[in-house]
Order: sequence, then structure tokens, then C-alpha cells
Amino acid sequence: MKPRLLDLFCCEGGAGTGYARAGFDVVGVDIDSQPRYPYEFHQGDASTWSLVGFDAVHASPPCEDHSVTMAFGLNDRGTGWLLPHTVTRLRESGLPFVIENVESKAVRAHMPGAIRLCGSMFGLGAEDSRGNWRILRRHRLFLTSFPLLVPACTCRGRLVGGVYGHGEQGVNGGRGYGFAADRAREAMGMPWASRDGCTEGIPPAYTEFLGERLMSAVLERRAVAA
Ligand SMILES: [Zn+2]
Repeated sequence: MKPRLLDLFCCEGGAGTGYARAGFDVVGVDIDSQPRYPYEFHQGDASTWSLVGFDAVHASPPCEDHSVTMAFGLNDRGTGWLLPHTVTRLRESGLPFVIENVESKAVRAHMPGAIRLCGSMFGLGAEDSRGNWRILRRHRLFLTSFPLLVPACTCRGRLVGGVYGHGEQGVNGGRGYGFAADRAREAMGMPWASRDGCTEGIPPAYTEFLGERLMSAVLERRAVAA
């Protein structure tokens, strides 16, 4: 039987797809209905969803919670509680886990030892409307229950693009370049996703990489228990 992975705050299944490729049976939970989610899905509260019956857990607590509310230094429920709550909960579960979040000082404080992944590590990218190849610059932090070596980020000083907002932005230069929706799907490797699903998503390449190592952690745990 394939190990079962619980995909908390799953959105449209970018992360889930990578774990499925790594060999997991994936079950997603999200507070919003997610008709595009490619695997078994349950609508519900991911902050309290039962972990029973799962071999591993991935969680992506919504970044709005942090980047917005932590800026005000607030820390009670509803204002930045979700990430620390999730870290504590998964640590206490004893299950192998991965927790993902955006890169910021506040997030780093809650995820000590987190590693950073970038599209440049996996050859992700797409052409802009002028036909220039742009590397997907998408820095995300991952706290894992297992040790991990990561490749180097090589996006610095190169032509890059991001996935945020709506429509192509910054093709004439300026601060940041954002891919148009179709190119965003290509750069993320999420052809089934909506524009917002891409904006909030994790490229499957990231979690396929993490999932292979997570799988080793699950199999080691099973061997110890046997
Ligand atoms: Zn990078």
C-alpha cells in the first residue's frame, strides 16, 4: 500500500501533485471548495483536521495570515497564529512533515532551520511575450522533519519572472516581471490551475523533490516500527 500524505491548506494541488509523483496517496483539505484539486479532497478546517491514518503531512498555512498580520506585531488567534500553531501541531504528531511558507523575517522566526527552494533549482520558467526565457523566481521556505541538502539558487542576476497579481506585468522593465496566466501555468508546471491557484500554489517540482526525501523518512519510520 502506498503511504498516505495529508495535504493541509491544499489550494488547487500544486504541492499535492509533486507528492503524488513521489509515490504518495494524497488527500487534500482546504477551507474553500477546490474543484480543480486532482486528488481526494475534503472541505474543512485544516488547522484541526485529524492526522490519524496518515503517514506524512504537508501544510501550507495561508501566507496572508503572516505577511499581513504579523507586520502589526499581533500574535493572538486570527492574527498570525496559524503558522506557529501548525509547526507545534506537526512537531508533536511525531509524523514526518513538511511545512511551507513565504520568505520573511517573521516566518523564519517560526521556522528555524527552514530551507529555501527556488524555480531556478529545477529549471522552471517560461517565455515572456517578447520571446525571452525567464526563470521562475519563486522563493519559498520549507521546514522539514528530516535533514535535507538543497541545490543552489541561481536566479540572481538573470532574467526572471514571478507569479503574482493578474496579467503580464513589467515586460518593459521596472521592479518586477509577472507572467501572464498561461505562462504562469507553464512556469509553475500547473496546467490545470486557475490564475489564483497559480498565485497561491507551490510548483509540483518543489514537492516532488521534497517528497522523495519525505518518502525515505516514512519508510525509515515504518522499518523502525516493524
Ligand atoms: Zn532564486
